[in-house]
Amino acid sequence: MLKLHNKEFKPFISTKEIETVIQEMVNEISQDLGDEVPVFVGILNGSFMFTSDFVKKYPKPCEVTFIKLASYEGVKSTEDIQRLIGLTQDLTGRSVIILEDIIDTGNTLAEVHRIFKNENVKQLKIATLFYKPDAYKKDFKIHYVGIKIPNKFIVGYGLDYDGLGRNLPEIYQIKETQFMTNLVLFGPPGAGKGTQAEFLKEKYNLVHISTGDVFRFNIKNETALGMLAKSYIDKGELVPDQVTIDMLEAEVEKNSSANGFIFDGFPRTNAQAEALDKLMESKDSSINAMIALEVEDEILVKRLVERGKTSGRADDADEAIIRNRITEYYKKTAVLKDYYSAQNKYYGVDGVGSIEEITKRLSAVIDKL
Ligand code: AMP
Repeated sequence: MLKLHNKEFKPFISTKEIETVIQEMVNEISQDLGDEVPVFVGILNGSFMFTSDFVKKYPKPCEVTFIKLASYEGVKSTEDIQRLIGLTQDLTGRSVIILEDIIDTGNTLAEVHRIFKNENVKQLKIATLFYKPDAYKKDFKIHYVGIKIPNKFIVGYGLDYDGLGRNLPEIYQIKETQFMTNLVLFGPPGAGKGTQAEFLKEKYNLVHISTGDVFRFNIKNETALGMLAKSYIDKGELVPDQVTIDMLEAEVEKNSSANGFIFDGFPRTNAQAEALDKLMESKDSSINAMIALEVEDEILVKRLVERGKTSGRADDADEAIIRNRITEYYKKTAVLKDYYSAQNKYYGVDGVGSIEEITKRLSAVIDKL
């Protein structure tokens, strides 16, 4: 983590990735230009590193120059006009490649086009190392793009935050604290997680993700994931970690603007818990609590046999499979109690009683978080 002035930043794009991308841009541009001797024009201050690394890799003769974006006080006191200065060379008939560190709104690009309008260049091409498609508001063509990035503030590799960070060899992204409530609803099969999640998601405006439901949806639709998962699920065994983790990440990504999540049936192993922590961290968030519904085995078996009469679930139809699921739960999953206890995030709640009573007990825990 990195702190500049009052803001925190997290590592985003490594030196290695930047280098690879620049090499690709060099290859593409040098191929397009053939035997032309181009003039590379870096836009100061931001693109000094990019321009330097780019031209060092450029395999053929070329010229390099810089222009600078300067702020002038506008006619009205609140208005700030940006002007490019430093273009002193005659560029008539030349192939000019602008090297930009980043294009976001496109305001600088508009300036570039304004000053090159009367230069009679042979061709003017725009190359940018970073590009924010969601922020770009202009129609100018961008000929070469290194990496497309989301519309979030970045520093490093020539880019600054209020003067600092230009010297960093890699890119950092601003850390935005999101106020999410993320709960892991935990408990053996038949503990009532699904039922309770329905109430809690309404009450706290959260997105409920049940990995069991997602698997069943995929099985019903005969997707590749469904086919793979079915063989495990029908026996009451766990689906392999990587398959489940990839699926869960995709579900979370589908709901990127959520207030928070109720994870139901996930994590079930330590590897899944670690993957979930990493995923939450990538969202500048975390798991707030694991709430476990505690219910005795014999009550669970009775509830599941009862549910199997109407649910149509193959894994509810047979008492031996039901017992196997409960055994699997304690064998593989109960270790998660230790995982979350170690972070002081484990809350056990009595899962026997009426649905309303149990909702009340769960809400009492959540309200205190
Ligand atoms: P559930 O509806 O949560 O009882 O899940 C039904 C079945 O889906 C489980 O018995 C597993 O076979 C599979 N499953 C659901 N969630 C996971 C998970 N997190 N990891 C591995 N398998 C899972």
